[in-house]
Amino acid sequence: MSEKLALVTGGSRGIGKACALELAKCGYDIVINYAGNTEAANKTIEEIKALGVQAEAYKFDVSNQAEVDENIAKIIEKFGRIDILVNNAGITRDDLFIRMGEDKWSAVINTNLSSAFYVSKPVVKIMMKQRSGAIVNMSSVVGVSGNVGQANYSAAKAGLIGLTKSLAKELGARNIRVNAVAPGFIATDMTKDLTNTEEMMKLIPLKRMGTPEDIAKAVKFLAVDSSYVTGQVLEVDGGLII
Ligand code: NAP
Repeated sequence: MSEKLALVTGGSRGIGKACALELAKCGYDIVINYAGNTEAANKTIEEIKALGVQAEAYKFDVSNQAEVDENIAKIIEKFGRIDILVNNAGITRDDLFIRMGEDKWSAVINTNLSSAFYVSKPVVKIMMKQRSGAIVNMSSVVGVSGNVGQANYSAAKAGLIGLTKSLAKELGARNIRVNAVAPGFIATDMTKDLTNTEEMMKLIPLKRMGTPEDIAKAVKFLAVDSSYVTGQVLEVDGGLII
């Protein structure tokens, strides 16, 4: 059992890992989820445990509702509660719209948007019983601005913003806050193969890529520090889409 628990999907690498570590520093026990890279997940678990909290990793596909239901039930049985949910797991399958097949469309919509519906459903039920909770959805600046070659990803990330605002309105009376972070250009495995970085820097007022830790601080603010903030989208992008 846990006194306070945070669940971070896609918490084994990149932004999710930084969020898990930041919340562990606040004293939360941590459950991370991941898709397949068990080595990275195990390494992250060791780093979290070194901060003196409980930590466990659950491998399941967030785009598969049956797998989500089975694993969230196991997590609730083991830890007894979920105080913070970070819906962070995500992928890209970029292509120009005219060339984009249904496979790339569905993979991104299911992994980045439907996943938040699947995971939040059982988590909201336990948060309603607790009469408290905080959810942070990992959107993206392209969910606000759109982007060439990312119709699927932008649509999913815009969908997360709609989900965030609707859930904030539905769940506020139960003392459950729901917010989103919209990261800009962050240095992780997801962006390591991008080639137009110099062009991107010209567009970013702060003249650097963000770090996973930059995003984790915003997640901590929304999930832990704030108490009267709900339904908001916090852009953490060095000023990219001012
Ligand atoms: P990343 O380094 O590629 O890490 C992705 C994480 O998600 C990994 O833990 C991965 O698990 C997990 N994952 C992927 N598909 C999954 C699935 N179907 N089920 C469960 N877990 C899954 O990505 P990142 O850059 O940290 O991005 C994290 C989030 O931030 C994503 O939602 C992304 O869209 C968003 N974001 C990123 C940027 C950026 O510039 N990096 C900008 C805006 C928004 P495995 O390790 O097992 O593969």
